Amino acid sequence: MGLEEKLPSGFLLSTVEQVAGWARRSSVWPATFGLACCAIEMMATGDPRHDMARGGMERASATPRQADLMIVAGRVSQKMAPVLRQIYDQMSEPKWVIAMGVCASSGGMFNNYAIVQGVDHIVPVDIYLPGCPPRPEMLLDAILKLHDKIQNTKLGPHRRKQIQELELAKMRSLPLLSQPGGKA
Ligand code: SF4
Repeated sequence: MGLEEKLPSGFLLSTVEQVAGWARRSSVWPATFGLACCAIEMMATGDPRHDMARGGMERASATPRQADLMIVAGRVSQKMAPVLRQIYDQMSEPKWVIAMGVCASSGGMFNNYAIVQGVDHIVPVDIYLPGCPPRPEMLLDAILKLHDKIQNTKLGPHRRKQIQELELAKMRSLPLLSQPGGKA
């Protein structure tokens, strides 16, 4: 529990949210986690042409304790799953995950017993990036969308209120079958 949990809801907390969001989004440090062919495109994102450093991300960390973004680039084998989870657990809070490519997002074409059918079975995913492999520009776009998400993250009482509202909206929403286009 941080200081923001103790702040009363209102102007002060809103200001802290904006400053914390700006600081966090401007200094996201990725953990290197290339697993297959997608990793080549991830590495290309750091080259001078694409220049991931523009987002304050020039430092890809080889140690999870100094990283807060896991870019899962490539298919995740069953054997690698516990290792991935351990690295995620060792990363500092708050932390985010991008599933890069169809293999990381859903298993892709590897619909078999050896491959995890989506890394969200192992860790919570913030952004799913489609493509086989996604181009560096697509990864940059995903990172910018993640920056927006981080900037607009609510804290303390605001976050609890947001979660309650989301839960209420979910409970009030119609089942898929009753929605327009659903088969009754
Ligand atoms: S999505 Fe395509 S490029 Fe990426 S790991 Fe899977 S097969 Fe390789």
